Amino acid sequence: MFTGLAERLQETFKKLRGKGRLTEADVNEALREVRIALLEADVNFKVVKDFVARIRERAVGQELHASLNPTQHVIKIVHDELTGLMGGANSKIKIAPKPPTVVVMVGLNGAGKTTTSAKLANLLRKQGKRPLLVAADVYRPAAIKQLQVLGNQLNVPVFTIGEKQDPVAIGQAAVKNAAANGHDLVIIDTAGRQEVNDELMSELENMNRVLEPDEILLVIDAMTGQTAVHVAEQFNKRLNLDGVVLTKLDGDSRGGAALSVRAITGKPIKFAGVGEKLDALEPFHPDRMSERILGMGDMLTLIEKAQENYDAEQMAIIQKRIRNMEFTLDDFLEQLSQVKKMGPIEQVLGMIPGLGGAKKIKDLQVDEKELAGIEAIIQSMTPPERQDPEKVLNGSRKRRIAKGSGTSVQEVNRLLKQFDQTKKIMKQFVSMEKTLKKGGKMP
Ligand code: GDP
Repeated sequence: MFTGLAERLQETFKKLRGKGRLTEADVNEALREVRIALLEADVNFKVVKDFVARIRERAVGQELHASLNPTQHVIKIVHDELTGLMGGANSKIKIAPKPPTVVVMVGLNGAGKTTTSAKLANLLRKQGKRPLLVAADVYRPAAIKQLQVLGNQLNVPVFTIGEKQDPVAIGQAAVKNAAANGHDLVIIDTAGRQEVNDELMSELENMNRVLEPDEILLVIDAMTGQTAVHVAEQFNKRLNLDGVVLTKLDGDSRGGAALSVRAITGKPIKFAGVGEKLDALEPFHPDRMSERILGMGDMLTLIEKAQENYDAEQMAIIQKRIRNMEFTLDDFLEQLSQVKKMGPIEQVLGMIPGLGGAKKIKDLQVDEKELAGIEAIIQSMTPPERQDPEKVLNGSRKRRIAKGSGTSVQEVNRLLKQFDQTKKIMKQFVSMEKTLKKGGKMP
């Protein structure tokens, strides 16, 4: 996401970095490039104009930071302003004082409303909520079935009373059902249209008047850029939205919608869809987003993902085995799968400072394949071979393993070498830890 914009901006600042002092001409040149980069990223032109003006004012007016050099200072201003543009802090959904909290999902067909309803149920359930999904899209017959399938995959119940019903009646019945069955969160998937029209708006207005939801969330497709922003403007005029979910950010290399929606509608982006899978929805953090854009990485999201996906029990077992020097290829595989659970490897790497947004990431896509290869190799080994490969494996077994895993003997050897090195490093860590515990000197 944002790769185009990120590359342009980082390039701009790289040029400044070589300079000891910044003249007004340097700043002007940089701002000109920032402006072009934003326009090319399909950011609304009014938004760009105000944005550049604010940066100029701050960069020239100078509240100089003692610990920053002039270039870092400009980058910091751009970072702060980008963050402000996207709404500052992360906005959470409003929780009703008396459950259930009712969230109505609105949007045009194809924006990702049904998928996002399911993803949101999944995300908020991880935070301790007990969601009920409600199929109220009675215009697109397949939508009800789609939500049922997604609910099934997640093991989240889906409330439906068929397609011949009035969506308002469905909503009312669903809220009753939720209250009776201990659901503290109701997520209603409503009908969309191909485009914004009066019929759709009246229908949604009517529903909101009766249900008085705690949140009206608009789902828009980031890949449609300014069209998405225009849709948001129109919905907001009639429905007074509480927030926006920006989907398909994974496929959006420009970022125009992400950077314009808040400024144009005044409404925050609360969540971002970053893939087709049901765990690919993230709370939207403007500060972290601008860090990613500026190539500062996003360690916080990475750490959160790790915490969400790491199986603490498994990790404790592995740690113990490392301490006791019993680390095997099975543990190695388990660690790899923990990393893989965090998402596509290039997305994970993009969050690491210095690697963000860069071209390097594209070259790293092969690593995903390599990981699959490693997995296949280890899975082709017998349990004793995974315990102590060096002792047990001979040439003919290596050939068999290569064949069984669709790899080559060289790849098998490379994996064994990596495993051996990992073990050596672990050995050093363990002895260092022991020495430190004893209060002795480091080896
Ligand atoms: P609806 O008509 O608004 O209910 O849209 P759907 O939920 O059926 O989604 C339309 C398509 O967009 C589906 O193929 C989804 O898998 C896809 N989609 C939704 N959100 C995302 C996302 O964040 N990233 C990607 N890559 N695809 C998404």
